[in-house]
Amino acid sequence: MERIKRIALVAHDNRKKDLIEWVEWNWQELINQDMVCTGTTGRLVEEALMRKAGNKEQVSIRKLKSGPLGGDQQLGAMCSEGKIDIVIFFWDPMQPQPHEMDVKALLRITVLYNVPTACNRSTADFMISSPLFRQAYKKKTDDYKDYVNRKIS
Ligand code: PGA
Repeated sequence: MERIKRIALVAHDNRKKDLIEWVEWNWQELINQDMVCTGTTGRLVEEALMRKAGNKEQVSIRKLKSGPLGGDQQLGAMCSEGKIDIVIFFWDPMQPQPHEMDVKALLRITVLYNVPTACNRSTADFMISSPLFRQAYKKKTDDYKDYVNRKIS
């Protein structure tokens, strides 16, 4: 991954306040990155960054569909295509979600493709303060060749 990171930001409704606080705290670092969000999270993140930047800077965030409407699946597809470097996903551990399966699928794909993923604020803090956040990084990824070429009898 390059020095400028392609970061996905997602939060369930009960975790959005937490994510927006984190975004506001780290806005100067985030504003220079390439960000993609699920729909509603994206709207809130964009508003927060505009506020922090004093509406001076052009803040443009790619917004996918809302999570329950397919946004998590879109993100999962992007992770599998190598289009996302980091996922910050504040999912709600206390409430069932209508798109539970999509959430699980996205988290599975991030593990499969070795995408750094933070699901709470302290992990996100450790991630954004890592020196690796500010430099190019070559991550180890399995090409799953053995699996792809396995014999089916
Ligand atoms: P939202 O989706 O940003 O559109 O609310 C988040 C999610 O539930 O995955």
